[in-house]
Amino acid sequence: MNSIREIYRIGRGPSSSHTMGPESACKLMKRLYPIAERFEVTLLGSLAKTGVGHRTDYAIYKAFEGIPVDIIFNTEEQLLKHPNTLKIRGFKNDNLICDYTFYSIGGGAIEIEGSDKIENKTVYSESRFRDVENVCMNGNISICQYIKNNEDKEIFIYLNSVWKQMKDTIYSGLAKFQTIPGGLGLKRRANTLYDFAQKEKDYSKKERYTISAYAYATSEENASGEVIVTAPTCGSAGVLPAVLMYEQQHSGFSDDEIVEALAVAGIIGNIVKTNASISGAECGCQAEVGTACAMASAALCKLHGLSLKQIECAAEIAIEHNLGLTCDPVKGLVQIPCIERNAAAALQAYDLANLAEVIYYNKKVSFDLVVKTMFETGKDLSCRYRETAEGGLASLFNNSSKF
Ligand code: SF4
Repeated sequence: MNSIREIYRIGRGPSSSHTMGPESACKLMKRLYPIAERFEVTLLGSLAKTGVGHRTDYAIYKAFEGIPVDIIFNTEEQLLKHPNTLKIRGFKNDNLICDYTFYSIGGGAIEIEGSDKIENKTVYSESRFRDVENVCMNGNISICQYIKNNEDKEIFIYLNSVWKQMKDTIYSGLAKFQTIPGGLGLKRRANTLYDFAQKEKDYSKKERYTISAYAYATSEENASGEVIVTAPTCGSAGVLPAVLMYEQQHSGFSDDEIVEALAVAGIIGNIVKTNASISGAECGCQAEVGTACAMASAALCKLHGLSLKQIECAAEIAIEHNLGLTCDPVKGLVQIPCIERNAAAALQAYDLANLAEVIYYNKKVSFDLVVKTMFETGKDLSCRYRETAEGGLASLFNNSSKF
């Protein structure tokens, strides 16, 4: 597996695979071919179908700032190796000087066709939960020690900056009221939810409104193209920060304890990314929000001192009960159902961590098995439900007056 840094990327929303991935591919080409006088970018698959709604074109123009670039949205080509494909060609004196195909594989990561992964390098020999657990048990070490043993020395400094950004994004989202851009006319709700929570007398409701407000704050910032942290993607960026923020404020966990929980959640996201997918275009929303829910449940278990078996159980239940979750963003925007779904998953993460605390022993389904199942299910999903905005809510929304 790669570093957990790859799970937590700080950057602008609204979509890690549609903005961060293409942006880094374009920046790489600009760096590799400084003599190019112009570039041509062809977007294919989901990038072509929902690229405008996800602001892919804006990310590309920003990446090539100062250099002319033509963007072609090719929605016709079907038999793609990856649903998020982009081709970048560079020219000098109208002569072709470079021609590369990239895949935006989710969470902002990219791969280049015909070469090894260009960004990531393996830092963990293990790729399944069972292997990680064996190393921890045989070496009598905690999962955090396992992470320290494999990552570079700066990893916890990096995770501290991740946590700081997560908090900044929530504070920033809570302070805004504007309509979210994109044309749906969606009003921000984070502040309203937060105010409601302050006035609520019932403790359980207060708790749930507050957690929801935090999830909305991040997701609304993401939908507005502001800075967020992928966890594991932009579309699902609201889930994990919401539970961590609530835990810090209401249970008093220190920044160091929160950062350790982030590290554990990162391993969960990493296992999914390595063995299945965290890309909505590849496997639907189960891969994005389902994984985020698993990460958040695992983080909660870690914060409350539960065992590795309980952490595994919580993450497993989260994936299992998000199996088949489709991706059908209305107008290709990361707004409906995405924002609300982040809040729903954050609330669910609490219930699953509680459930796992009790029912973890003698489980028949392992985390590794459910991750594999999620991947198979994702491959079986019609492409209408994989970030093409062609099915489900995305297709029926236009006729919503009939319902
Ligand atoms: S529905 Fe889920 S996978 Fe699709 S764009 Fe929204 S958050 Fe991402």
